[in-house]
Amino acid sequence: MNEHGLSEREVFSYLENAKSEDTDYYRVLSSMCTHPHKIAVEAHRLFIEANLGDLGLFAGAHRLEQEVVRMLGELLHAPSIDFPSRDSCKSSVCGYLTTGGTESNIQAVRGMKNLVTSGRKGLKKGLKGTPNIVIPESAHFSFDKVADMMGIEVRRASLDSEFRVNLASVEKLINANSIGLVGIAGNTEFGQIDPIDKLSEIALENELFLHVDAAFGGFVIPFLEKPQPFDFKVPGVTSIAIDPHKMGLSTIPSGALLFRSPSFLDSLKVNTPYLTTKSQFTLTGTRSGASAAATCAVMKYLGNEGYRKNVQYCMQLTSKMVEGARKIGFEPLIEPVMNVIALKVPNSDLVREQLLNRFGWNVSITRTPRTLRLVLMPHNRPEDIELFLQDLKKVTAE
Ligand code: PLP
Repeated sequence: MNEHGLSEREVFSYLENAKSEDTDYYRVLSSMCTHPHKIAVEAHRLFIEANLGDLGLFAGAHRLEQEVVRMLGELLHAPSIDFPSRDSCKSSVCGYLTTGGTESNIQAVRGMKNLVTSGRKGLKKGLKGTPNIVIPESAHFSFDKVADMMGIEVRRASLDSEFRVNLASVEKLINANSIGLVGIAGNTEFGQIDPIDKLSEIALENELFLHVDAAFGGFVIPFLEKPQPFDFKVPGVTSIAIDPHKMGLSTIPSGALLFRSPSFLDSLKVNTPYLTTKSQFTLTGTRSGASAAATCAVMKYLGNEGYRKNVQYCMQLTSKMVEGARKIGFEPLIEPVMNVIALKVPNSDLVREQLLNRFGWNVSITRTPRTLRLVLMPHNRPEDIELFLQDLKKVTAE
């Protein structure tokens, strides 16, 4: 840092310079985030100083957080809970706003571990060693962080031919030290939805928790023409991660974690002796009240109808992309379930590089098998799809 500060003009010129190095979402087909809705941006600004780590000081921002949790609970069919005087969870739905899917997944597994080790969840056989969770091979890499941080063994079940978790593989991996299962409702690479209802049966039979990672799919699946079961309507589902900063069109960082039962939040509590509240159950201390306000604003503004239109738009782009790709000879690995396409293109790594270097398209690659991964988001336009397909044809023809 300099001894003397710069002028405002100098600072902004410095910032604008850095901003010019950022990629505009135009020609981005690899991101699960997008431009936040303008109402979310305004709300974010209005609550810029609000710290949800000190709830007593920011009662208004906290009320907005609770309202978001209530609305998300409604969207995800969370059961209403009557607990009039708890400071961990005053709303009728249990959960809180996180920084995103990673934090939600970490906290969901931390909750499982705490409940089991404190003896609050009865397991059939009791723990004999390192606790483990069984997740699909397709799970997001945030679960690698879970394994690393929490001394939990993460067991990966194989996928079936449609890239959903293979139920026989899940059952085979469960042992006396298993504490929970994870299902993905909209996996990062293929946009596929695991059979959550079947995972629920396995979880209930084995007295295991079932966390659903709907970080991406949470704001998509309820608005599809034929939604698949993935939320609290499925009896064995104990927690759900859903990210407003992805298809929820809110500002970053906006994630959410919802629990079926308040015992989860209680298991995450630590005492906070010098704050305005007695305890905290969040992973981070200082938290953004601005993103709670942003999420609340955009959810109120769009309503179910607005989100349905958003999903319809992205699904139309998806169909247009698949149709066009087929015309130039490329098939999707699976029929897209949501707005994610895994396209079978030979030499996909090279194609990706060429698309970026020659035409400025940002796409990504799935791990196994290696396919071109395209996410069709609200920032993409129908005319971009045509341009992209022309460029893909050029790159693959050479
Ligand atoms: N879970 C899923 C299914 C995701 O697709 C992602 C990110 O794309 C995450 C979790 C992690 O979310 P975040 O990057 O917001 O922490």
